Formats: sequence, C-alpha cells, structure tokens
Amino acid sequence: MHKYEKIEKIGEGTYGTVFKAKNRESGEVVALKRVQLDDDDEGVPSSALREICILKELKHKNVVRLHDVLHSERKMTLVFEYCEQDLKKYFDSCGGEIDRPTVQSFMYQLLKGLAFCHQQNILHRDLKPQNLLINKNGELKLADFGLARSFGIPVRCYSAEVVTLWYRPPDVLFGAKLYSTTIDTWSAGCIFAEISNAGVPLFPGNDVEDQLKRIFKVLGTPTEQSWPGVSKLPDFKIFPLYPSNAHWAAITPRLSSSGHDLLKCLIVANPSERLTASNALKHRYFDDIHTS
Ligand code: ADP
Ligand code: MG
Repeated sequence: MHKYEKIEKIGEGTYGTVFKAKNRESGEVVALKRVQLDDDDEGVPSSALREICILKELKHKNVVRLHDVLHSERKMTLVFEYCEQDLKKYFDSCGGEIDRPTVQSFMYQLLKGLAFCHQQNILHRDLKPQNLLINKNGELKLADFGLARSFGIPVRCYSAEVVTLWYRPPDVLFGAKLYSTTIDTWSAGCIFAEISNAGVPLFPGNDVEDQLKRIFKVLGTPTEQSWPGVSKLPDFKIFPLYPSNAHWAAITPRLSSSGHDLLKCLIVANPSERLTASNALKHRYFDDIHTS
C-alpha cells in the first residue's frame, strides 16, 4: 500500500470503499477500491481470483481499466484508472438538460463497452448510472463488474437480486435465473431514456410488483402470445391486462425519432426479441455520430 498515497474518499458502496489516490512513483491518479473479505473465509476464493484475472485482461476504452490487485490477509484492494465522476453525479451537475450529441455519444460508448464485454462472454448485470464512469474527456466507461459480488459480503451471484430494481428486465423480475446478455441491453435502454431526460429514471419502481406494473403500463402486459413461456417463469404473477401505451415521443421528448426507434428495440419485454448491443451500434440513430 506504500505505493499509493490516498487523496480522498470518493465512494462508499455495498461492497467496499473507493478512494482517489496517487501512485507515489509515477504520479498517476488512480481509484482504489478496498473490499473487506469475509471473516469466515480463508482469503480470497479462487473463483474471485479467476474473475479478477479475466477483468485484468478486459481492455477497452469504454471499460474501466483494472491496473492492479493488491492483496493482504483480510482485504483486497483493486487499483482502477481514475474517472472524474459517475453518470449519476453528472446528472446532478448538468442543470436539467443534456444536449443531443452528448446523449448520443454516451449511449454509443455504453453500447461499445457492452458489446465488447458480451463478445468476451462477460455480463455486467448491474448497469445503472452510478456504475458508469465519465472522465474529464467525456469518455464513458463501464465499472463495478460482478467481481465484487463473488467475494464481497452480500454474495448474490446468479440470483434474481443482482440488478438494481429500476434497471431490471421483466424476465429477471419474474425470477428468470439463466442470465444472458439481454439483461444488460434492457438496462442500457433504461439508461438511454434516463440520459435523454437528464437524469429522470424511466421506471422508478418501489418494489418488484410496482416495477413490473410500471413497465407493463407502457409496453402492455405480456401474454403467452407476445412472449411464449412467460407464464412458466419461476415468479410469474398475473397482472391486469394493460394495453400497450408506448408513446416514446412523450416519454423521451428530447430524443429524435430514430432515438425513439432504438429505445423501442431495447425496451422489449421478451428477452429473445431484445436488440443485442452490437446490433444496437448499427442502428440508424448512430448514423451521424462523430467518433474519434
Ligand atoms: P460498489 O460495489 O460499492 O457499488 P463501485 O465500483 O460502483 O462499488 O464504486 C462506488 C462509487 O465509487 C461509484 O459509484 C463511483 O462514484 C466511485 N468510483 C468507483 N470507481 C471509480 C473510479 N475508477 N474512478 C472514480 N470514481 C469511482
Ligand atoms: Mg456500484
């Protein structure tokens, strides 16, 4: 730990404390994420180490870089590249409006990072504004991968608990356990709407039932016809048959019509019909994007 000088605390989450720090030798500013290990366990489980090795190899400009892992008996410190803020804080500081090119750029970068992870068979499972980091150059990076969950204290791997309610797809809310990449594309759709509305969440449910109601009031309640197999999901419950009422232009008034179309392809109840991240990148909404 002598290698880094702590500057300030920047986050305190479910799984650990995050500090801004400086590498004493190189002067490089980093983020240190300290994770307390479970007292009952003997050090770090091998599954977690395996996952960390994978993350260390996950190199993409839209995925936060894990530089190093420092490991002592009772704790583990992950050394990440430093980003100035997360998307949630960005919303708080944007003054109620985010211009169209920025909305498009953030969404493009989110999908780029996601498509890359999915290509490597890595799911994020907890996409939300707090887990998307933005650096001073406006680069957006996916952060807070499942790795902490595999050895941090609330171990909730592969349960229906892993995604924050507001960004959870209906299949997971109905107890689907076999996750696929579609869990992340639903969350990306919710975040797209939220970015375009400068931080107003799309489906801010209070509990699972309220969450599903909010979704079905927009998309219409799914049926065996619109979504074969839905009634066989472990926690399936009957809901009133709301008609589809998806007026995306009213829900996200600042998006262009191609933006509404992209949103419509991501916010799809039946996971097998949801757009993949790599196909979303080819959507006409991005036809006029300026990439460097
Ligand atoms: P948790 O598992 O506790 O949610 P996160 O990795 O999401 O852990 O970190 C918590 C918060 O700390 C984030 O929401 C973000 O505000 C901040 N943070 C995390 N990593 C970085 C980083 N690399 N650079 C800057 N801030 C970070
Ligand atoms: Mg987090």
